[in-house]
Amino acid sequence: MGTGDDLDYVRSQPVGVRHVGDGLAIPAPTESARRVRRYLLLHGAQELTSSYWRRKIDYDTGEVQRRSEFRISVCGRQPVDDEVRVYRHGESVGYSGVMRCGNVWGCIVCSTKILRRRAEHIGALFGANHAAGGSAVMVTFTAAHRLEHPLSDTLSRLKKALRAMTAQRAYVDIVSTRTAMVNTTEITWAERNGWHPHSHQAWFWPFRPGPDPEALASRLYPLWQRVCARHGLETLEYYKDRRIGVDVREAWDASEYLAKFDRERDWDLPSEMTAGRLKTGRSGSFTPWGILEEAVIRGKDSRAADLWIEYLRATRGYDCVSLRGARDLLKRYDLPTTYDDWADANAPGEGEVIGTISGASYDRVVRSGGLGRLLEAARTDGYFGLARELGA
Ligand SMILES: [Zn+2]
Repeated sequence: MGTGDDLDYVRSQPVGVRHVGDGLAIPAPTESARRVRRYLLLHGAQELTSSYWRRKIDYDTGEVQRRSEFRISVCGRQPVDDEVRVYRHGESVGYSGVMRCGNVWGCIVCSTKILRRRAEHIGALFGANHAAGGSAVMVTFTAAHRLEHPLSDTLSRLKKALRAMTAQRAYVDIVSTRTAMVNTTEITWAERNGWHPHSHQAWFWPFRPGPDPEALASRLYPLWQRVCARHGLETLEYYKDRRIGVDVREAWDASEYLAKFDRERDWDLPSEMTAGRLKTGRSGSFTPWGILEEAVIRGKDSRAADLWIEYLRATRGYDCVSLRGARDLLKRYDLPTTYDDWADANAPGEGEVIGTISGASYDRVVRSGGLGRLLEAARTDGYFGLARELGA
């Protein structure tokens, strides 16, 4: 292993300026720093969850096993075979032959891999529907809760409200000609009002033009407001002249919708690892990766760490991206209709094998927190980069 780990690597990268506004420079880390930061955050998440390991005794064999409450604790740390392969497939370079956790909410490495696959299919769905003369809109449902309310509570209220809405007769009328629906749940947290989960949906119609977005939003809002009130959520039709409770936009292609579920999008904002720390301000909200980064910086006893653990627990069992409402249309276009986050995260790497790493060497890199940096070396210098980093 070379000197230093992923953190040193990220710190050594030049930082450009993406945007200057309000007297603040928003840093733009290099692509490689972004990639390495994923491993840095996974490693950080594993340290944050390290005190959640429990000893478990198997009473039949007397064997003592250690199990973590969080599967992310072991993600990418255990080779399935004697060695781990580093492969290149197009633009991506990755490890193959390690156990992945498949947590699309909390594991940035798995999430990147899984969402890339979902994005391909959603993109194909948009494309095929458009080519067949159809149209699509992006619908966002937003509701607020109180600062003191736990995420598990707010998230389950949101899910229940969405389900209750679809049972309303007026809603059934509105969507009677809709052919498919894709749902993505996004969660942010803000100092002022705590957890804020919302739902981004893509709705498809078999004709063009589809329903007028503004008219659709004003028909949907009263239904949404009613179910929100019933489930203890607050919602607003407008905020500063912008629709927020229910927002509907035309979507010509998948790009805008997919940008919504690219949760790394705003991730540069609270980045101390690459540049001077930027305050997001009291009204600013954190994405899950922002919370995690904050927790990694502040440590286990920080509020951010508590929020992070709360987020991991509360999202368990929920779908982040659901294509269940799109099965018929997916089938019509010969696209896969079943999805499994865990299987996708654990799909073997395809493409050219750059090199292999022995289990012992891999373990050393894991412990020193250098998995991201090692991949970058393989990306730029291939086998020699790997050998150099491993000190072979
Ligand atoms: Zn994972």
